[in-house]
Amino acid sequence: MTDSRSRSASTMRRDQRYQPHTTDSYRSPARVQGGTGCRECGAVYENGRWTWSANAEHTSQLVCPACRRILEHAPAGELWLESGAYLVAHHDEVVSLLRHESANEEKRHALERLMNIEEEAEGIRVTTTGPHTLRRLSEALVRAHHGHLSIEYRDGEGVLRARWSRQ
Ligand SMILES: [Zn+2]
Repeated sequence: MTDSRSRSASTMRRDQRYQPHTTDSYRSPARVQGGTGCRECGAVYENGRWTWSANAEHTSQLVCPACRRILEHAPAGELWLESGAYLVAHHDEVVSLLRHESANEEKRHALERLMNIEEEAEGIRVTTTGPHTLRRLSEALVRAHHGHLSIEYRDGEGVLRARWSRQ
């Protein structure tokens, strides 16, 4: 939880904290071998991608890109839900929609996960380990709850950002 009397200032400070890593630093190195597993979450690297594979045996272990983002608090996507009368009235519905959609996405794409849903004074900050989850959450939100959505990707920052509001 962050005291966000000045949200833009706190966002800038966060961005600086996230700066040390570029998007590329979270890609799997080309030489990760098949049969490598993540020691944090159990995802397995097979045929060039990370998957949930119950029966794969893995001989070597490292930390997958999604777990590294979680450990280092470095989201790939951030969705900001601006507080207002509508969000206050539909808070639980909105949060359960976000959790449900991200759980579905994570089942299909091992690196696409929900990181955090942080309740702040001026809204809700949702962070994800991948851009697809962010897009999926944003689209599901608009489908179910309408409102206004904008998505932007700033070059050099490596974070896809979406903002949603409904008054
Ligand atoms: Zn992992």
